[in-house]
Amino acid sequence: MMLRSIVRSGLRAQQKWAVAASMSSAQSLAPIVNPQIKQTGIFINNEWHKSVSGKTFATINPATGEEICQIQEGDKADVDLAVKAANEAFRFGSPWRRMDASDRGVLLNRLADLIERDAVYIASLETIDNGKPYSSALAVDVAATVKCLRYYAGWADKNHGKVVPLDGDYISFTRHEPVGVCAQIIPWNFPLLMLGWKIGPALATGNCVIVKPAEQTPLTCLYVAELAKEAGFPPGVVNVIPGYGPTAGAALTYHMDVDKVAFTGSTEIGKLIKKGAGESNLKRVTLELGGKSPNIILNDVNVDQAVENAHFGLFFNMGQCCTAGSRTFIEEGIYEEFVEKSAARAKKRIVGNPFDPKTEQGPQVDEEQLTKILGLIEAGKKEGARLVAGGAREGDKGYFVQPTVFADVQDNMRIAKEEIFGPVQQLIKFKDPKELLERANNTEYGLAAAVFTKDIDKAMYLMQGIRAGTVWINCYNIFGAQAAFGGFKMSGNGRELGEYGLQAYTEVKTVTMKVTEKNS
Ligand code: NAD
Ligand code: MG
Repeated sequence: MMLRSIVRSGLRAQQKWAVAASMSSAQSLAPIVNPQIKQTGIFINNEWHKSVSGKTFATINPATGEEICQIQEGDKADVDLAVKAANEAFRFGSPWRRMDASDRGVLLNRLADLIERDAVYIASLETIDNGKPYSSALAVDVAATVKCLRYYAGWADKNHGKVVPLDGDYISFTRHEPVGVCAQIIPWNFPLLMLGWKIGPALATGNCVIVKPAEQTPLTCLYVAELAKEAGFPPGVVNVIPGYGPTAGAALTYHMDVDKVAFTGSTEIGKLIKKGAGESNLKRVTLELGGKSPNIILNDVNVDQAVENAHFGLFFNMGQCCTAGSRTFIEEGIYEEFVEKSAARAKKRIVGNPFDPKTEQGPQVDEEQLTKILGLIEAGKKEGARLVAGGAREGDKGYFVQPTVFADVQDNMRIAKEEIFGPVQQLIKFKDPKELLERANNTEYGLAAAVFTKDIDKAMYLMQGIRAGTVWINCYNIFGAQAAFGGFKMSGNGRELGEYGLQAYTEVKTVTMKVTEKNS
């Protein structure tokens, strides 16, 4: 099947629409530029509902600033209904709880198949709702989501406990049991992929989920809910409440009958999530938050390749990546050449209609992000960083920002400290490799980092010293469902993906049985 080859090429395909297109006929992969919107409701118990309040909200196409459609706006009353349904689906003895673990894997694989079947439609939805280039939506977001679900489908009947050598006449063992009803709050930068990262491990391990997509980008999540029903998940296992953070999101976070909340988004809201858990039922919390990741380039690199990697590490997904390499540290010897080439590369970056296969960069997700990014660009100029590319809004329709590069950035400038989440690259010179680690770690964040060098000793030394959940060496933004992802420090708590990602969705039950000698 043609899409399988795209899926296989997965993240390696990155923005290379040309790669995807060459794998099959252009016609079958061509986007649907005006996709019909099929789902706009609240999904509870495998049924579509209107909001209890009767309220709706608009979702906007960021390339035009125009409304796509109205979505039912979930709030506390809707959350209460979903929590009730999810707890009923999780009741001991329910069809979901009695289902063989291997069959949970079958359902997840079926869901992956359905997403693959509708890949073009789903990628098109993601593009109008989020603004990301269709080429990326298809070859990265949809492909990696399918892979993630298949990866966790495989785990469904393999997440077993241990036999414990307890002192005395006892047999003791552990069972890995589902946590229960899990609220999953999704960001807007990778709406479909973050949904996959969250529901994959949760459903594989037998939990019930209530997903709240970001208010900016609800469409793909709502469509996948319908596919979950088609795949055969029992009612109440997968529920989706579109709505806003302070209302629907907070109602989930504070709910006494929600056992866990998994959140991806800003560090600011991450703190509120922990507070809500603490002030309610101490529900389990996992957080994947912001970053200000150092990307370290040493003198010995091939400069052209390193420039391209650093460009990709920052500008991918319009800079809207928690892992964005937004502090590029360049060793003195190659600094000026690196600045010149980075500026030239940014000026060549193709910004425009996300459905055009040549487009590398679409709009930012919304007006709020546009304003925030333009504000930080102004701060960079005022604080004396050297602007070498971009520096302004692109056009006056939609939320486009020129690919922007600042050189001579100092560690104490706002653009070197705050998460910009936009197409704004900071180039920072360093002389002393000994001081470098301290500077690289001088941030409240610890999500990701990269080192570019041919010197294996230096690479390993820096890797060990960097306080971050992911360190890339001679590459950037390489992900796979097999590799755990998460943050040190204020970049988060817990890990997603890989075997480690199962822990967030599993309680360990220790079972100890007295053994009596029968034959004596
Ligand atoms: P946000 O953290 O407010 O939103 C993320 C999700 O949390 C959304 O679903 C939102 O509805 C929900 N939410 C918001 N307030 C909530 C609350 N009180 N309780 C429960 N849920 C709540 O992010 P934003 O405001 O859209 O973006 C602000 C900044 O956050 C961005 O500029 C960027 O720096 C960062 N961000 C990071 C990521 C990431 O992947 N780590 C993703 C999105 C945004
Ligand atoms: Mg917000």
